Amino acid sequence: MESRTASACTQPSTKRRVVIAGGGYAGTTLAVRLGKALRDEDDVEILLIEPNPCQQALSELDLVAVGPARAEFCELWLPTLFKDLPVTVCYNRVHEVKPNDHVLTVGPRNGPHEDVPYWRLVLATGAIAFVPPVPGLAEHAVTMWSVADAQELQRRIEAQFRAAAMIADRDARVKALSFVVIGGGATGIEIVGTLGQMLPKRMLDAGLDPADLRISVIEGRPDVLYDLSDALRKRARKRLEHLGITLYTGSMVSAVEEGLVRLADGTEVNASVLVFCGGAKADPDAISWSMEADPSGRLVVDETCRAVGHEDIYATGDVAAFRDPKNGRTLPMLAQFAIRESEHTADNIVREARGQALTPFIPHMHGEFVSIGPSYGVGWAFKVNLAGLPAIVMKRLTYLMYWFSVGGIKLTWKRTREMLSMQR
Ligand SMILES: Cc1cc2nc3c(=O)[nH]c(=O)nc-3n(C[C@H](O)[C@H](O)[C@H](O)COP(=O)(O)OP(=O)(O)OC[C@H]3O[C@@H](n4cnc5c(N)ncnc54)[C@H](O)[C@@H]3O)c2cc1C
Repeated sequence: MESRTASACTQPSTKRRVVIAGGGYAGTTLAVRLGKALRDEDDVEILLIEPNPCQQALSELDLVAVGPARAEFCELWLPTLFKDLPVTVCYNRVHEVKPNDHVLTVGPRNGPHEDVPYWRLVLATGAIAFVPPVPGLAEHAVTMWSVADAQELQRRIEAQFRAAAMIADRDARVKALSFVVIGGGATGIEIVGTLGQMLPKRMLDAGLDPADLRISVIEGRPDVLYDLSDALRKRARKRLEHLGITLYTGSMVSAVEEGLVRLADGTEVNASVLVFCGGAKADPDAISWSMEADPSGRLVVDETCRAVGHEDIYATGDVAAFRDPKNGRTLPMLAQFAIRESEHTADNIVREARGQALTPFIPHMHGEFVSIGPSYGVGWAFKVNLAGLPAIVMKRLTYLMYWFSVGGIKLTWKRTREMLSMQR
């Protein structure tokens, strides 16, 4: 079942309505799992509220931003995913949540808004790119948090290729072909690695000389990929050097001007195209929804992923702050946790629908992989470090597992074929 209008979600219903706000990794996983489990329950209905018709698979964005993938590669069509499931999609955005009335409102920021009552609500509205107030940064940099961002980077790369092709002076051409990524965490390294592997090929296709290319990554901390072990960071640095990427570590960006990044230690880095991958923050609307939030703005949830103090509201994914009972730390914003929390929440909602007790969510991190270009990766799984082809295979396997969980064998086969054709 599927709908394209707001009225579908505002129609009165006698059923117990589970409303899911946000159709990213968390919301889509939840809707699919719940839809499968409740297929035969006539008195429960599932409503997903999401403004976009596609789920954007953000962890695959680098392949779209620089190539070789088309934008569709990281877009999963919601009507296809829910074709045979009892999930109604309301293409709208959640405006406000009124926990005391057990109602949320949908509609554009400036109204009009309509009420949607719920029996259970799952907030899964994710996060947005966080750009710190460094002079010139927001004005000149492209962020990397949506397919639109990836397409904007594509556009800027192409514009620089066109400009460089017409410049006779070598120094000026090198300046025009200077690409800089700010942020040496996983996202920044994935983008810069893909730039490093793909741009020389694309330059050759355009008749440009790859020797004119300059790619840099800037990280304020003393090293890139700070969450990984020393050994893996070393492999990552070696790979970046092999791709001809210059690393600037240990100094923060102090200002950005047209074509130039200034670091606090006085270094100047030419940047005709600048990408900012320095951080994210939870959906900023969430803190206005009368629920407890942590200092970073994520909604605080208990061990069952319920918003503290609200028995009928869950929050999962990037918008939620789940504290790992093993070490007391809040789980990082990662798709793997968004997916696990949502699977567990779906199971808990099924338990509630059947009058059973909830169970706590116990997070486990079984591995982490970062691609550095489409054919190389670093990371670990089950305490074993991997680098190179095995690591990139593991990373792609995580995509496969996700595609299978939300789209079954058909989607997995289609996407695998697309992915293999890109490796050639
Ligand atoms: C470039 C990049 C690479 C990444 N790589 C990895 C990786 O390799 N591995 C990994 O584990 N993680 C990775 N991540 C992190 C991962 O993508 C996030 O942790 C994950 O997207 C979180 O899922 P989510 O469902 O909480 O949020 P999202 O996937 O961001 O989905 C949120 C959804 O909510 C919708 N929404 C927002 N506001 C509203 C509203 N008011 N009403 C209705 N809907 C709303 C949005 O349209 C969106 O569809 C990466 C992130 C980026 C940006």
